[in-house]
Amino acid sequence: MDVIISKDRKENTLLDDVIALSGIDISACLQCKKCSNGCPVNKMTKSSPSEVIRRLQLGLSGSVLNSDLVWMCASCETCYSRCPMKINMAMVMDALRIISVKKNSLKKKSHVSIFNKSFLRTVRIFGRTYDLGMIAMYKVRTSSYLQDTEKFPMMLKKGKIALLPSFKADRSYVKRIFKNIPKKKVSLNE
Ligand code: SF4
Ligand code: SF4
Repeated sequence: MDVIISKDRKENTLLDDVIALSGIDISACLQCKKCSNGCPVNKMTKSSPSEVIRRLQLGLSGSVLNSDLVWMCASCETCYSRCPMKINMAMVMDALRIISVKKNSLKKKSHVSIFNKSFLRTVRIFGRTYDLGMIAMYKVRTSSYLQDTEKFPMMLKKGKIALLPSFKADRSYVKRIFKNIPKKKVSLNE
């Protein structure tokens, strides 16, 4: 990774935004890489958690917002439990997702944001996940009608996917949860 640090370097606004949104003191990172060594998705992503933190510190905003880890992080908090400085990467990733969406820097081809929205919509409607509904919403929104359709019969046969949603969940309770989510105002440095 080539890093050029000039005296004229602009204020590191992305770092400021992440700190403001997450409340995490990223400057405390020691680059010990304990987070990266324990991260379950690290092998599948191009960037590791410690790299994302380092890039944030160096003001490499573009590479941070385009990092695949931002959207593949499973929020499992393994990194947090291993970090000697108690840096909660899951909260840092949450902040980066909010900023990505707000700045529209999310790569269209990734469709991760559409997937997340489709998932939450089904939870909101049915009180729990409904895979088939979520897949249908995702496919309509991304026009990926034929993608992975060959897997559907096998998933159905093995009982991995249900044709109808479950109506066992307390939908009014889940609705109240969604209603009570505080609307966080995000004003970002541009
Ligand atoms: S474990 Fe904590 S201190 Fe170590 S590299 Fe990761 S974030 Fe930094
Ligand atoms: S919270 Fe995200 S970054 Fe941290 S270990 Fe889990 S998947 Fe990796």
